[in-house]
Amino acid sequence: MPKIDDLTIRRIKDAANIEDVVGEFVQLRKAGVNRTGLCPFHDDRHTGNFIVRPKRLKDGNTFRCFVCGAKGDSVEFLMRHEGLTFPDAIRWLGQKYSILVDDVPVNYTPPPPRPVPPPPPLLEIPREWVGALAKRQHPNNFIDWLYTLPWGEAERKQLSRTLWQYCVMGWKDGRTTFWQIDHEGHVRCAKLMRYLDNGHRDKQEHPGWIYNQPGIRERLDPDQHTIIRPLFGAHLLARYPDAPVNVVESEKTAVIMANYYGDLHQGLWLACGGLNWLNLDSMQPLIDQGRTVWLWPDRDGIEQWQQVCAKLGADNVRVYTDFFRTHYVSEDDGP
Ligand code: ZN
Repeated sequence: MPKIDDLTIRRIKDAANIEDVVGEFVQLRKAGVNRTGLCPFHDDRHTGNFIVRPKRLKDGNTFRCFVCGAKGDSVEFLMRHEGLTFPDAIRWLGQKYSILVDDVPVNYTPPPPRPVPPPPPLLEIPREWVGALAKRQHPNNFIDWLYTLPWGEAERKQLSRTLWQYCVMGWKDGRTTFWQIDHEGHVRCAKLMRYLDNGHRDKQEHPGWIYNQPGIRERLDPDQHTIIRPLFGAHLLARYPDAPVNVVESEKTAVIMANYYGDLHQGLWLACGGLNWLNLDSMQPLIDQGRTVWLWPDRDGIEQWQQVCAKLGADNVRVYTDFFRTHYVSEDDGP
């Protein structure tokens, strides 16, 4: 079999457009400057992990999955996804882009066109569960500790309002419930964390998710849904349409900063839940709304969030790189 010459390979790679090639197999949608979909290389149920970077961008014409690590260009996608050899992947692209490769037919029969199944519906939790399942009166170390902080009088007065606005509540077993309600008011998730009476998270216990709680899992059936985790506090975007937005790592920091600064019209505080949880999906509403967005990673996360920021490609989002810690925010509350 003749070897395909380098010039032809280069012409084909130049002609290939990753969005079209991946789009033949994966349903893609816009995510900032990128495209995203469910990763075909692992059992993916969260969009936002699998990114296709358009050709026109720097480092573009590539795909990448942040979960399983799959990455490459159109040729590598075809080889992996369709099990093609390198020459056959080149020939496949040659056919698609009408570039003559050689007279060897592609040793591959494309599967009959099939509708790409849409991802399962987004998980939505009934609104009335918010107050019914989580209650302020449940004993709660985090909320009790918040009241012990050295607030000024005005700040202390508005603390219960801040907690109410952010939907921070107790759970019957003493954990704290941080509801994750999206910018349109859909309740998508809740994170349950146990705090010690010194305000630190109990590191012995991993954060829990509401859809995995006994008695609730059966009712929500998370396996048949796509689970999304909006930024904690995202439901406040509608109430403060002109506020610039600060995004921090931990829910605790967001609540403290919101209460400390008070006027949310001047700046909203949202949390992604941890260093590794900042993703395109949760940032999309902020980008679409053209908000001024400041990302405030803890000091060890500046570089990582700058990379996410670069991928977002939105000029309204910036990483705040100055050292930022208050004396009572001193631990990573991430999962
Ligand atoms: Zn993957």
